[in-house]
Amino acid sequence: MGQLRIPGPTPCPPEVLEAMTRPMIDHRGPEFVKILNRVTDKLKQAFLTKNDLFVLTGSGTGGLEAAIVNTLSPGDKVLSVSIGAFGDRFASIARTFGADVIPLNFEWGKAADPEQIRQALKERPQIKAVLVTHNETSTGVTNDMGKISSVVKEAGKLLLVDSISGLGSIKCPVDEWQIDVAVSSSQKGWMVPPGLAMVSVSQDAWKAHANARMPRTYWDFSEARKYLQIGQTPWTPAVSIFFAFDVALDMLLKKGMTNVIAHHARVASAAREGMKSLGLSLFADPAHASDTVTAVSGPPGLNVNELRRILREENDIVLGGGQQKLDGKIFRIGHMGWVTEEEIKEVTAAVKAALPRCGFVAPR
Ligand SMILES: *Cc1c(COP(=O)(O)O)cnc(C)c1O
Repeated sequence: MGQLRIPGPTPCPPEVLEAMTRPMIDHRGPEFVKILNRVTDKLKQAFLTKNDLFVLTGSGTGGLEAAIVNTLSPGDKVLSVSIGAFGDRFASIARTFGADVIPLNFEWGKAADPEQIRQALKERPQIKAVLVTHNETSTGVTNDMGKISSVVKEAGKLLLVDSISGLGSIKCPVDEWQIDVAVSSSQKGWMVPPGLAMVSVSQDAWKAHANARMPRTYWDFSEARKYLQIGQTPWTPAVSIFFAFDVALDMLLKKGMTNVIAHHARVASAAREGMKSLGLSLFADPAHASDTVTAVSGPPGLNVNELRRILREENDIVLGGGQQKLDGKIFRIGHMGWVTEEEIKEVTAAVKAALPRCGFVAPR
């Protein structure tokens, strides 16, 4: 069988896919009430949160938009901590809705420096919220969220976090890190097809929500809360993805989130060691390398897109490319969710076999 090794959508276990073949049910009937409540409760366990949690129909980006429009007003100053393409996207959504975005950008491949965040917040006391990407999927870097959170909370700011490719795969204790809105989505480490975004909402986020004037209808948290009280969603949900999520969450919680996180660390280590053993370099600062996606850069001369083509056509292994300015410069191995060390070894073997045909000369 082929391997989908992109950082989302990720492969799904057969029982998860089978759950989606169930006939449709009334999304305002008693059966859906039970499913929605079960899925919400299980997600709260995985997020390690007692905050409200909403499962919204949409992709992860919709969850990011929801985090912004529900807590901010046009003109609000927000600090955007960006270490890559997804950090930039978060900032761009805030700008679209009229926030006064103060960018704090770090070199791609590096993690954000909590000290510089502290300094930026000190220099601009008017800042209301901080946007942070927990795990930057475009560069394969994981920020030190625990430290960043202490800095942001010390300054008393709202903390909005894109942990779309982190939650469910790497450590992200939402309550311990006092994350006001944490966002993830179904097609990353959760072993579920795309279609649902999950957001947790703290008490402070609700306070901000009460005064937030950015326009919103579909993503309105007040609507989501009102309907969740009767076991419904305001709009028609992606019912089949809920069926799948229910099953996938049982599998994850049965294994135990601590074990799931440890599994990701082992698989990631196999990916990094495998690539290094071939003479390739890792794009991410080793101290902050992600356990859900590995970004690999070759020596000059290596045609990464040719490498991806060979693997796709000859090995049925699909790797991710580089985004934006990294297009053609790196390739990415997604290893979140349902993936084993054995499969990563197969990827390494296939890359090894293809390298000589892609302009690769092993560095001496
Ligand atoms: C995948 C991803 C997104 C975007 O999610 P979509 O579901 O494609 O909208 C945003 N941020 C991060 C960190 C991601 O990995």
